[in-house]
Amino acid sequence: MIEIRRNDPCPCGSGKKYKKCCYMDKEKNWKILRAANRAQTRKDIIKILNERPQVYKLKVKLDSMKAEHFKSTISRNIEIEGTDTLYDLHLEIQRAFNWDNDHMFSFFMSNQIWDKQSEYKANPLGEHMVSSFGDTSKPAGETEIGDLSLQKGSSFKYLFDFGDEIIHSIEVVEVYENNDPDASFPRLVKSVGKAPPQYEW
Ligand SMILES: [Zn+2]
Repeated sequence: MIEIRRNDPCPCGSGKKYKKCCYMDKEKNWKILRAANRAQTRKDIIKILNERPQVYKLKVKLDSMKAEHFKSTISRNIEIEGTDTLYDLHLEIQRAFNWDNDHMFSFFMSNQIWDKQSEYKANPLGEHMVSSFGDTSKPAGETEIGDLSLQKGSSFKYLFDFGDEIIHSIEVVEVYENNDPDASFPRLVKSVGKAPPQYEW
């Protein structure tokens, strides 16, 4: 870990003082602090800042809705970068299945639904709402996918809408380095089956 003082040259290499450069920008500063935390030397910081994030190819399978299980496969393959958050993944899943982003959601990284210890959650705006004393959930909006120690074969659950309980299984199909500068993420790369309507009219 490298400590950066306010009067140091900014680690981004701009030549300006840190306090007059990335320190002023919340998002840039967040990246600098994360890189500094991982770095062994000052040079490492620039190297880490220039790293291309890993791409996570995820297979998101719809398991059940209101306790009704689906017999045929309904799945979406999504590619997302390690610097995106679980909230970004939530939004992409919402788009991919055509859900209405109007309810709370949780990811359970232990792959067990309702396992509070491994829960990351947020409301539709990405805010972390803690329901009661003893709620150990972590904020999905502030958790980057690259920080979750996911590897090929890892699996976890995504629960959308605590009332209707739309449950999805997610599997990491592949983790790779993107070399295409024009590729934009997150993106939907495969769709199998038709998603059922979220509401019965
Ligand atoms: Zn800077």
